Amino acid sequence: MRAALRCYRRLARWQQVLLAVLSLAGAAAGGFVALTLYSQLQSNSARAIQRWFSDSSSRPTLTTMQRTPCPGAPFLLPSSGLIGLLWRDTAFPYNVLRRHTGIDIFGDGEPGTVPVYAAYDGWLTRLPTWKASVIIRHDDPLQPGRTIWTYYTHMASRDGNTSYVADAFPPGTREVWVAQGTLLGYQGEYSGKALAPVGMHVHVSIVLSEPDGSFKNEARLSNTLDPSPYFGMPLNIADRPARPIRCQATGAAVY
Ligand SMILES: [Zn+2]
Repeated sequence: MRAALRCYRRLARWQQVLLAVLSLAGAAAGGFVALTLYSQLQSNSARAIQRWFSDSSSRPTLTTMQRTPCPGAPFLLPSSGLIGLLWRDTAFPYNVLRRHTGIDIFGDGEPGTVPVYAAYDGWLTRLPTWKASVIIRHDDPLQPGRTIWTYYTHMASRDGNTSYVADAFPPGTREVWVAQGTLLGYQGEYSGKALAPVGMHVHVSIVLSEPDGSFKNEARLSNTLDPSPYFGMPLNIADRPARPIRCQATGAAVY
């Protein structure tokens, strides 16, 4: 009888542990859903990106084509298409805890055909291991004397086997002068992982320098700058601009 009671008590304890684990898991799942929902409410980007990929007839109405710098702005928009994800964006696959560090321009055309140009004069580097990326060092036109970088990525086929970076910049290129508007390559689908390709686009971010003059890790938001004043366009998700994004009205720029 006593043994049976002990057994029952042990069972009851395990039940309590199981219940506690289940309710914790439930809370975590609920928290994740809440985080995701809240994050999507902070952005208006997902709907435009969904339209872009589900209805190709919408593309002309979503495309920003700006072949010269916006009035009063130093940088040239590097490619044409839907400026989908913006700086600090929380739209999927990002969220309020992990925000987008640059802008994503989704071009209309086959991978390897939509050109990407240098946003500004500078010195281009492509590390030996980079299949899909280049980075350009600039004297900051909005804060002369400071060194900043523009980073461009996803310029390869989805499996990473075919690079779409221009032949002029092979892996290992270091500090080659490029003028604003120089062809850097073409938009692609390579995410860095062959098994998880992205919808075709180019990602462009503005990156700060380390004290030693090298570029900081662009995957961290705090290492990047709001591109809006550089391009003269509302590119910060806080503004929730309608698509297509256009140049800020002259005089309304935020710098
Ligand atoms: Zn991106």
